[in-house]
Amino acid sequence: MSRIQLQGLTRRFGAVTAVDDIGLDVADGEFLVLLGPSGCGKSTLLRMIAGLLPPSEGRLWLDDTDITHLPPQRRDVAMVFQSYALYPHLSVARNIGFPLRTRKRPRAEIKAKVAEVAATLGLTDLLDRKPRELSGGQRQRVALGRALVRDPGAFLMDEPLSNLDAKLRAGTRAEIAELHRRLRATTVYVTHDQVEAMTMATRIALLNEGRLEQLGTPSEVYDAPASVFAATFLGSPSMNVVDATVRAVDGALVAEAEGLRLSLGIDADIPDRPVRLGVRPEHLTLTSSGGQGIRAIVTAVENLGSEEVAHCDTGVSVRGPRPLGVVPGEAVTLSARPGHLHLFDHDSGRRLA
Ligand code: ATP
Repeated sequence: MSRIQLQGLTRRFGAVTAVDDIGLDVADGEFLVLLGPSGCGKSTLLRMIAGLLPPSEGRLWLDDTDITHLPPQRRDVAMVFQSYALYPHLSVARNIGFPLRTRKRPRAEIKAKVAEVAATLGLTDLLDRKPRELSGGQRQRVALGRALVRDPGAFLMDEPLSNLDAKLRAGTRAEIAELHRRLRATTVYVTHDQVEAMTMATRIALLNEGRLEQLGTPSEVYDAPASVFAATFLGSPSMNVVDATVRAVDGALVAEAEGLRLSLGIDADIPDRPVRLGVRPEHLTLTSSGGQGIRAIVTAVENLGSEEVAHCDTGVSVRGPRPLGVVPGEAVTLSARPGHLHLFDHDSGRRLA
């Protein structure tokens, strides 16, 4: 497989800078997920890698080849679209074999390769069907098959699961992840779904307004978000973030927020300054028996099955095993588990510790 390198990649549409100076190195065999909210530039970036859209600035390499100005068909990449883009009048076998027929490969080779790919994807029994006779998940597998049959240097996938219902989506997500484990194919995968990103990615590239906000493994991005944006984009419900002041008291750092002093238990040189203090809902505990902590009133309790989320009047939410043992209207005290606080610069939102 192949390594993809992006350098200073930028794309403007009139006054809009959709992708802004992105540098990235996608390692051989990596599953890189481009993640971010609607309009952050994910599809534009992927389309530039595919060759479907020329960059305004910057360069692109596939291994040692500069592909910046190569047309799509001369790049050794295969794209899988959200819409599947199958030919409705062709059978599954002919859809999968299509890229080989356009490359004028010998019949016997096409037949063998289609059979091999169909077996890999569990499509062997469906080869004679037309796309309309397939479920959404099966259609997406045919689209994957058509990419796979080419043995490309890299796969580019643009929200391939977004047309599937929740159950199929989870199943197909696991299938794609398993396929990647087996084939170790370099993949760049676009999604705005944080669960897809967390479960499938070897690394996540989180985009915000065309810029690379953070690049890291799912655990790195979740456990040490680089900014308030990253902190609140990943995680459900979002990380609680409040204004606070950091002070050094007796040589130890404390944060003061909501009239409360929290020992930070971190070693960083950030004295006396306003910050944004973050704590994930699952790192807060809640008690109705008083004690030290932030006082709040529960406004709603959501049942997630194995867990519950309590929303409070202070805007803070708490997540924990069900039942949390509180009801709407109840007065509670919130406290943070030590070692799970995040500090961000008050103005820039960048991570301090
Ligand atoms: P989504 O998740 O909604 O598909 P995205 O992150 O893929 O969003 P892009 O489609 O890459 O975002 O769009 C990034 C920005 O560029 C948006 O502001 C969009 O309106 C703009 N844009 C994209 N394509 C064009 C175009 N052909 N002409 C003008 N503006 C465009």
